[in-house]
Amino acid sequence: MDIPRIFTITESAHRIHNPFTPEKLATLGAALRLEPGTRVLDLGSGSGEMLCTWARDFGITGVGIDLSLLFNAQAKQRALELGVADGVRFIHGDAVGYVADEKVDVGACLGATWIGGGVAGTIGLLAKSLLPGGIILIGEPYWRRLPPTEEVARECEAGSISDFLLLPELLTSFGALGFDVVEMVLADQDSWDRYEAAQWLTMRRWLEANPDDEYSKEVREKLTREPARYAAYTREYLGWGAFALMAR
Ligand code: SAH
Repeated sequence: MDIPRIFTITESAHRIHNPFTPEKLATLGAALRLEPGTRVLDLGSGSGEMLCTWARDFGITGVGIDLSLLFNAQAKQRALELGVADGVRFIHGDAVGYVADEKVDVGACLGATWIGGGVAGTIGLLAKSLLPGGIILIGEPYWRRLPPTEEVARECEAGSISDFLLLPELLTSFGALGFDVVEMVLADQDSWDRYEAAQWLTMRRWLEANPDDEYSKEVREKLTREPARYAAYTREYLGWGAFALMAR
């Protein structure tokens, strides 16, 4: 049980697998006014950077679930490195349908809302693990500018224009689901660069170390086209944010 290998090649050196810098992740933790002992559930926890740094900086405890063997192993390693392995637990597995045994103060899914079949479904899934008055945290793309054509949306690696909303529409959609938006931290083009451009050096080094790998042609083609594609499309059209929600 694992995710497609291409991601563990291009993002093997990433601690944060979304367009946030460590500073933005820390800003988000501070914005949520986390307190020692706050319980956090993270579906699609990746390499565990959010739970590990929030445990170190704010004293939270947490459980993360991720389908990637590599990212989950990196998360466990990171917890040891930061001295927080007592407070955070990382489970390798499918988070689809996952409900926590012990209810949590914060239920998060950042950059993996397909786990609940979309934003609304993921909010519904997280709500099942949430204490009354708890916060749901959703990390999701939105259009900074509406793509003029479906082709431009596909160049942004979206399936279609309708996959994402403009920011005001996305915020309104949370209200329509019965939630107040109580905080948000947004990516910017510089933090997007840390997510996207960092993959280029990882790909280049991987190609040098793995010239005969069956994926080397695919990775070579991706490295060749990615910088210009990213600059022309994703960087211009796609935003990303983490949105904190509380049931009305
Ligand atoms: N939230 C993390 C990772 C975001 S990338 C961060 O911000 O760094 C999306 C993550 O979802 C990847 O780590 C991937 O392995 C994980 N994933 C994909 N499908 C999943 C599933 N069905 N169950 C659990 N994790 C999944």
